[in-house]
Amino acid sequence: MTKKVVIIGGGIIGLTSAYFLSRNGANVTLLEKDSFGEACSRGNQGWVCPALHAPMPEPGLVGSSMLGMMKKDDPLYLKPTAIPRLTPWLMQFIKHCNENDFQNAEAALHYLSRSTFQLYDFMKEDGVDFEMHNEGMLFAFFNEEVLNQKMKGFERKAEAYGHEAPVRLSGRELRDMEPNLSDKVFGGIWLKQQRHVNPQSLSKALIDKLAEMNVEMRPNEEVIGFDINDEKITAVQTSNELINADTILVTAGAWSSLLTKKLNYSLPMEAGKGYSITISNPNLSFTRPLYLGDSKAGITPFTGKVRIGGTMELSGINLKLDRGRIDSLRESILKYLKEPLTGDHEEEWTGMRPMTPDGLPVLGQIPDLENSYIATGHGMVGVAMAPATGKIISDIILSGEAKSKVGHFNPKRFVKKPSKSQTYKMFFT
Ligand SMILES: Cc1cc2nc3c(=O)[nH]c(=O)nc-3n(C[C@H](O)[C@H](O)[C@H](O)COP(=O)(O)OP(=O)(O)OC[C@H]3O[C@@H](n4cnc5c(N)ncnc54)[C@H](O)[C@@H]3O)c2cc1C
Repeated sequence: MTKKVVIIGGGIIGLTSAYFLSRNGANVTLLEKDSFGEACSRGNQGWVCPALHAPMPEPGLVGSSMLGMMKKDDPLYLKPTAIPRLTPWLMQFIKHCNENDFQNAEAALHYLSRSTFQLYDFMKEDGVDFEMHNEGMLFAFFNEEVLNQKMKGFERKAEAYGHEAPVRLSGRELRDMEPNLSDKVFGGIWLKQQRHVNPQSLSKALIDKLAEMNVEMRPNEEVIGFDINDEKITAVQTSNELINADTILVTAGAWSSLLTKKLNYSLPMEAGKGYSITISNPNLSFTRPLYLGDSKAGITPFTGKVRIGGTMELSGINLKLDRGRIDSLRESILKYLKEPLTGDHEEEWTGMRPMTPDGLPVLGQIPDLENSYIATGHGMVGVAMAPATGKIISDIILSGEAKSKVGHFNPKRFVKKPSKSQTYKMFFT
């Protein structure tokens, strides 16, 4: 019998999940509280660069960056007034800033990303018609030491996970490739095989494809509750109606924990706020995405546009465009360029990355509910990981096959086991 899967959240993870589930024979309904692909999946940089994937909690981050993170112009910003609410999440995050957890999480991310390029090609060949560029990506540095460290990191990853070897470039070689870079840039790195997509064109192409595949697409349909019987969800309550479901999949990005709370599953999820500015008909052109190594910001060329973006702010879910943060982003880019970047029109944007404290996505069955699943928590790499996530969650839901392969991403890892003293107390009271 055909399974009816109701997906909640129409960002890039919901869209690719709907695509693979529908392709594999499920009857899919996709619910979105606003418009499809318009939240975090809209104004991001679109880098599809598995060679870059790394968990955010890393050894040394706490000591070196935590104090800097309180400064408003730091690329990583922790809003002081948000700290009391953020503390439980931050405590878990800090716990994962050690070598062992970092290495395990990095290996898991690379395992999940290994089919990224093939799956992007597969979608293209299947008629999902989006803007994709295959010219690789560049890194630019003012500081030789930072360049050397990054180079070593890529060499290690190339050896450990089979990624391409990085190519070191002098300042002159870098400027031959990107003439708009300032003479002050010392040197760079080229990763030839990495790619980038235009995220809006990707969402649009998937929306068109899903309509063609008869997926029921329902925008402006906010999920506000669930009907649960015998540890099974039987229906999803939206702001408009009750929708029956055999299976549900939560792909609500940074909002996912608000939904899982209603399912008795406490997911530690914070929004990692980022900004971008998209410039139409720019005066300067670039051939590849550029990561500006000392500023931790990026420049990405699309057809007829250039996007600058970056920053990671922990201040809760809020779409306020902070003028100070946007100005810092502009300045951090400007110093790498020969002249100011301008154009016909500028769109300022902010998006909420779904962040878990261990830096890993959450993929699989929601604990204690046999027909409910979740796919979220992709942080800084949701676009790159979207096809692999859609494919794997579809395999888990429809055949249970991939279950054993996603151990690191299992939602159960956040279920607190009662400690011995708690068990004792529960027994005697
Ligand atoms: C500045 C910036 C740059 C980035 N650059 C890159 C990059 O280069 N490469 C990369 O791979 N990633 C990048 N990312 C990260 C990437 O954008 C995210 O990981 C990804 O978009 C997350 O997708 P999602 O579908 O999980 O979430 P979202 O796109 O946020 O989608 C979640 C959807 O769920 C909906 N929803 C929530 N609650 C409900 C409800 N109750 N009922 C119905 N619908 C609901 C929301 O409205 C939303 O549309 C970047 C992010 C930022 C901010």
